[in-house]
Amino acid sequence: MTTPASTLQGAQLIAGARSAEGNATLWATNPATGQRLPTAFHEATGAEIDRALRAAEAAFETYRRLSGPQIADFLDRVAVEVEAIGDELLDLAQSETGLPRARLTGERARMLNGIRLFARLARDGSWLQARIDHADPQRQPLPKPDVRTMLRPIGPVVVFGASNFPFAISVASNDTVGALATGCPVVVKAHPAHPGTSERVGDAFVAAAAKQGIHPGVFSLIQGGTHEVGLALVKHPATKAVAFTGSLRGGRALFDAGASRPEPIPVYAEMGSINPVILLPGAMAQRAEPIAGAFINSVTLGVGQFCTNPGLVLALESPSLDTFVGAVRTAAAGVAPATMLHAGIARAFSGGVDRLKETPGVQVVGTSNTAADPAKTEGGVAIFTTSATALDEFPHLSEEVFGPTSTIVRCNTRQELEGVIRGLVGHLTASVHGTPEDLAEYRDLIALLETKVGRIIFNGFGTGIEVCAAMHHGGPYPATSDGHFTSIGPAGIYRFARPVCYQDFPDAALPDALRDGNPLKIWRLVDNQVTNQSS
Ligand code: NAP
Repeated sequence: MTTPASTLQGAQLIAGARSAEGNATLWATNPATGQRLPTAFHEATGAEIDRALRAAEAAFETYRRLSGPQIADFLDRVAVEVEAIGDELLDLAQSETGLPRARLTGERARMLNGIRLFARLARDGSWLQARIDHADPQRQPLPKPDVRTMLRPIGPVVVFGASNFPFAISVASNDTVGALATGCPVVVKAHPAHPGTSERVGDAFVAAAAKQGIHPGVFSLIQGGTHEVGLALVKHPATKAVAFTGSLRGGRALFDAGASRPEPIPVYAEMGSINPVILLPGAMAQRAEPIAGAFINSVTLGVGQFCTNPGLVLALESPSLDTFVGAVRTAAAGVAPATMLHAGIARAFSGGVDRLKETPGVQVVGTSNTAADPAKTEGGVAIFTTSATALDEFPHLSEEVFGPTSTIVRCNTRQELEGVIRGLVGHLTASVHGTPEDLAEYRDLIALLETKVGRIIFNGFGTGIEVCAAMHHGGPYPATSDGHFTSIGPAGIYRFARPVCYQDFPDAALPDALRDGNPLKIWRLVDNQVTNQSS
């Protein structure tokens, strides 16, 4: 059994052992009360970081050679160990993040589903993308060699836990279990706002590795509240890839650190995004008020602390836009302020809102009837309107303010609307509200969105990401550092694998995934045909 929350150690988890060598400490604060929580967490020293990554490097030697079912059993065990912590985990996360119980309960289920999803993927093995081209010795003018390729794990991966999903995008994130499913050991940097939740979930990985007989270096957890800790993890020579979710500033700093190493490594950073929403005239004429209600629900969901928050709304001037703005005002008034994740995020939100308010050409059109209580780290909804001209003049109007805020841009003409879309940087999502006629009429604008975002939603909003094979959560820079890869869903596994090609190998010396008999029974591309039969 893992230890109960009351016995949090405040230490690093390095290759199965606790370590607290550093003198610097950090504490979590309950954002709903402003009170410091009791456990002091020791920040990792350079020597501890080195030990974690050296252990990961050592574990890679054996872990990468385990079979898919062995890795799947390990991940399934992790899920069982997390479940065994019970509701103490919810209590702890609630005290560290201020998130409502129902939200945390749902997110814990999503975390467990995610762990088991990657266990299934590892067990199935088709993700290996095995491709076989048989030899043709008779080919003229030159014989064709036997060429076979499959994906292989890249090595130790450093994962940064995000503040806004203490379960699903933290220690047991898509990135952590995705990397483990490929055969990569993982070192997690706990987010300093929920170190206790991170330690408890980390305990589950340690217990699972011990019970399954896996090298303990397969998982380590590092605590830290200074940039030095994160940078040291990225710069360590044993680190082969990094996954991060957080601010543009943090993500960019880590990306640059990864690129400037003697051996550059990929840093998959998912950063800021304001997720433009385009309201087309037909939809506005028919349903401006319901769209306004759904929009406010999406902006205020989770106190707006989602990377898919709809932070910019684009619409053409019309009487129905006035109706929409009026309905937004009414809906916003009824949404009470709520506790944000930590004081730093609440401060950044309040500063960002003040900056928007002070910008010439920007009007406040929707706020809560109730004032936010700073003692409870609360943030209240703030909706603005502006013109396309002001948006062009003040670039900060299209930058992310993390929290329940959004700016409605009133465009005078279709050309102006198109100009705003052309001027957008990369975002995770865009939403289009329209009728079938709108879609035909504005086909060019929608096609333009494909160059700006990773996911386009029709008559909905980007919040609430479905975890499924077809999901793509990633967009062009600055939404992410590499829009090729998703950070949510099974396809996230491809961040941590690279192809290895085997030429003219005898069948017996090939990995099982590439052998003619297809002992793993996986789907493969054999001589340009997709099949799960032997070749
Ligand atoms: P953050 O400041 O980006 O921090 C996330 C993690 O990265 C922390 O572990 C932090 O460690 C580390 N880090 C940040 N800057 C670093 C640097 N320059 N060098 C090395 N490590 C660095 O994110 P946050 O604390 O979660 O929230 C702050 C802001 O991030 C929010 O206001 C919001 O704008 C954005 N955010 C975006 C998303 C998203 O989904 N895109 C999610 C959450 C937050 P230390 O603090 O210990 O240095």
